[in-house]
Amino acid sequence: MTTLPTPLAQLADLARNLRWSWNHEATDLFRRLDPDLWEQTNHNPIALLEQLDEGKLRAAADDADYVAAVARAVGDLDAYLHDESWFDRTGMALGRPLVAYFSMEFGLHESLPIYSGGLGVLAGDHLKSASDLGVPLIAVGLRYQNGYFRQNLDQSGWQQDSDEDNTPEHLPLTPVAGPDGQPITVRVRLLDREAAICGWLVQVGRVKLYLLDTDLPENDEEDRRITSRLYGGEINMRIRQEIVLGIGGYRFLEAVGDTPVVYHMNEGHAAFLTLEHLTRTIERQQCTFAEAREIVRPSLVFTTHTPVAAGHDYFSPHLMETHFADYVAGLRLMMHELIGLGRHNPDDYREYFCMTIMALRLAARSNGVSKLHGKVSRGQWHDLWTGTPEQDVPIDHITNGVHLPSFVSPEMAGLYERHLGFRQGVAPSDPAAWAGIREVPDGELWVARQQQRARLLAFVHERIRRQDAQHGRTNVGDGFDPQALTIGFARRFATYKRATMLLRDLPRLERIVNNAKRPVQFIFAGKAHPRDDGGKALIQRISQLAHDAPFEHRLIFLEGYDIGVARLLVQGVDVWLNTPQRPYEASGTSGMKAAANGVLTCSTLDGWWVEAWDDAARDHEEIGWAIGHGEESDNTEHQAHIDAQALYELLEREIVPAFYERSIDGVPHGWTARMKRSIARIAPYFNTERMVREYTERFYLPGIQAARD
Ligand SMILES: *Cc1c(COP(=O)(O)O)cnc(C)c1O
Repeated sequence: MTTLPTPLAQLADLARNLRWSWNHEATDLFRRLDPDLWEQTNHNPIALLEQLDEGKLRAAADDADYVAAVARAVGDLDAYLHDESWFDRTGMALGRPLVAYFSMEFGLHESLPIYSGGLGVLAGDHLKSASDLGVPLIAVGLRYQNGYFRQNLDQSGWQQDSDEDNTPEHLPLTPVAGPDGQPITVRVRLLDREAAICGWLVQVGRVKLYLLDTDLPENDEEDRRITSRLYGGEINMRIRQEIVLGIGGYRFLEAVGDTPVVYHMNEGHAAFLTLEHLTRTIERQQCTFAEAREIVRPSLVFTTHTPVAAGHDYFSPHLMETHFADYVAGLRLMMHELIGLGRHNPDDYREYFCMTIMALRLAARSNGVSKLHGKVSRGQWHDLWTGTPEQDVPIDHITNGVHLPSFVSPEMAGLYERHLGFRQGVAPSDPAAWAGIREVPDGELWVARQQQRARLLAFVHERIRRQDAQHGRTNVGDGFDPQALTIGFARRFATYKRATMLLRDLPRLERIVNNAKRPVQFIFAGKAHPRDDGGKALIQRISQLAHDAPFEHRLIFLEGYDIGVARLLVQGVDVWLNTPQRPYEASGTSGMKAAANGVLTCSTLDGWWVEAWDDAARDHEEIGWAIGHGEESDNTEHQAHIDAQALYELLEREIVPAFYERSIDGVPHGWTARMKRSIARIAPYFNTERMVREYTERFYLPGIQAARD
């Protein structure tokens, strides 16, 4: 890193704790230094400080206001790290980590691309809220040298995938070393050899995240690539990644000395940690597998995240035998008994081994991620508990949330601060604290809405210029209208999310978008998995349509979806569109981010939305729009047709009229009233502060208590 002038030296400290990313003042300190470079580095403060022009650094060092702002931010971080926390008041704190959270992906910020979508962002938000609440949690993931992938479209709109560059020097990664200064490494056995694993520390507020890495010179070429790409390899690669995460991660925590009491598996990917936990218990207690299983049970927490079959890892018996031939002895099991842990029917020797099944069998506490998903999961895995009535299947639910300080815009944070007294937009999960939103003058809320939309459209304008230049298209100017009703759709392009529902009747869509008095514009973004040609075809269809005359300037596909683009979209649009095929969206979280910014949701009744919707309906309050009535059908084509009709009707009869229904003061009072109801009902509940408190009170603390007894 460039040597910083003394008055600015502490900028480097700020840059190395991700807490800056959910603090508007700290973020502004970096942006102010060089707004263009800030964009070019994709909001990476370490890269920014490294590349910053000396003159600009000196100017900042001479600017008394700037230097004072740095001191304030440092003081603020210090207070954040050391103030008494919510967890301190539980009386359970021991001054050491008690919970280890394992996840294949973490979506913390766009500048650290080790995530693919909602699952990762949820994990990132979990860490941030654990930090805010002071929950003594540490986390384990993998450092992907090439990330997931960076998205570009070619001339024809077909997705091209390129590498991210996760070089540690440009990222807030610190090598994890022992007291002797030597890097800490652990080993796992893979086939006929052992692979070494080192780790990097990412500081997320008070929470430590260790990212494991096999890219070491002492490893085989093949093993060095284990941590190269998220969800990139075929099945042989996948099982090795999961061995590194689960078994390697367990050993790494032990080597570092951060031994937790409770292990939380975020999705089945991490479930091999249970085997290591059992092996170590058997070794220590000199007991049988069955005894060890009872001992470790209370310390295991498992969260399942999807009813989609492809979302669960299945390994063939052969693959399991290859990788666990030596390992199984330590468990005091026969190979078929080990594989049986992950089978619906343990005696069916042909059945594949499923990580989710093993996790469900071994963990004392398991959950789905919304009320509906809890129920769907109990049905999905019912056969693991023969004789138990479905409603008694031990899979609970804790509904997902989002980390509000990470996603609430500066405009809305300011408004919450002025009217609700929230500090820096840090909003408590107390409904009473939010009730005051109903008293905010409509005009003020509307001004914030307009500002947010303008900021998004300025970004869209810039992106269109860049995309057009890249594709050799002559830029025909930007016809997007900062005053027009703007509707967003952005998420992974998994087919069940039905991104192209809106395009089923193009003449009808054309009439909606091109109404001269009430124009409507749509912004799409999202990545398809590199091997999902179906998802890529949907992207191509949208991107091609965006260049057809009737839809030009009314529809756009933004390339390179990431957390930064997501943040702008959920803050800037007026309506957030969500069209999953029920019941495949376990929760969904992007709509929660949007709601906290006063954006109204229009969604099928799936995942989190049906929960929010039913709750509001009980009080006869309208908080957004529901597409359909929560139908589930095996005839996907027919269902998509019906849902599309319902969506068009909503747009034509309700959404567009409500947006353009203005009073003499230019404010759509019906719309702002709906915004207030939506914020008041959704924000206090659908956030990760509430969620992490639930995990702590219902899952972590009982697990810790059980371990002590
Ligand atoms: C929030 C978020 C998601 C999740 O979107 P859903 O609509 O809940 O599927 C995916 N990707 C990114 C980058 C996000 O920020």
